[in-house]
Amino acid sequence: MSKFVLPCNSCGSSVVVARTQAGMSIPCDGCGVVLQVPTIRNFGSLKQVEEETPVAATPKSSLWLSLLAAIAFIAGAGSLAYTGSIGWELYALLNQVATAKLDLTKNEEDYVRDVRTASLKATPADTWDYWNEMTEFGLSQASTPEFFRIKRYIEAQRPELLKWGAVSAVCFTVFAAVTLMLRRPKKSSALST
Ligand SMILES: [Zn+2]
Repeated sequence: MSKFVLPCNSCGSSVVVARTQAGMSIPCDGCGVVLQVPTIRNFGSLKQVEEETPVAATPKSSLWLSLLAAIAFIAGAGSLAYTGSIGWELYALLNQVATAKLDLTKNEEDYVRDVRTASLKATPADTWDYWNEMTEFGLSQASTPEFFRIKRYIEAQRPELLKWGAVSAVCFTVFAAVTLMLRRPKKSSALST
């Protein structure tokens, strides 16, 4: 409800009055002199007190929502960073694959068969050297071929990449939704006169 300023001519202070007090006699807060509140017809002569926009106290629920948004954002950023690190690792490996001209579309049986075919073409001298190397350094020196190492690693990491990518997408969606919910303008209740 609108409030009006009723000035006191005795002390210079003023009293705030409402339309419901029209025609009444009220004491001045400053000096106690009885003031005559104008009738409703003359209320227009009084200065209206500017309505302060009521500062809506932040409801508890939005504190929880803000907390949820913060957690979702941090979790989203964390999982996005993890997704990025997996992605970067896979990217580096795929570069290695390209450099080494490895055909990862081949399955492991095909790879073994190709190696066998190639070894059958090796000269007896090559085979002899290889045999000597084996007996000297032991079979443990024969490392897992790049093909197996890379192919298995990529196959193991691909679902991880998708999983953490999805987790970060969900987190950021929650963050966006909660943020929008918090920003939505609330229905103003300060329109009464
Ligand atoms: Zn007064």
